[in-house]
Amino acid sequence: MNLALKNFGRHLKKNGLRLTVERQKLLGLILTMKGHFGSEDVLKKSEGKNLSVSRATIYRILPVLVEAKIIQQSLLTSEGQSLFEVTWKKAHHDHLICISCKKVIEFQDNAIEVFQREIANKYGFILERHVMELVGRCRECRMV
Ligand SMILES: [Zn+2]
Ligand SMILES: [Zn+2]
Repeated sequence: MNLALKNFGRHLKKNGLRLTVERQKLLGLILTMKGHFGSEDVLKKSEGKNLSVSRATIYRILPVLVEAKIIQQSLLTSEGQSLFEVTWKKAHHDHLICISCKKVIEFQDNAIEVFQREIANKYGFILERHVMELVGRCRECRMV
């Protein structure tokens, strides 16, 4: 059994849910999701794969996957539906969001990562996770 599945199973149990074949398949499907996605995207993709999962199943499973650190909630400052992205075995990144055209740029900056850990330590925290979203106007939208 691979580690993601094991982790998922453990967190399902913690939430009083069983690791069914259906949920196992759903995990496999979500691990292949690219970029930033919402629950509707998962539903659409599952239909394309002839996987009969309900919207309710997906809603129930997403927070468990977040807890298991397989996905993370993403783009919190952009309005609309909740978005997620796969973080399992992926390098961490942060986001720049354009308020005008809604473009999202992903970036990685070591200095920022180290700095955040240092700030957390200074206040007696051990950093678990963070959300860094820089909201503004992109180069194209600035010209208008
Ligand atoms: Zn823009
Ligand atoms: Zn991202």
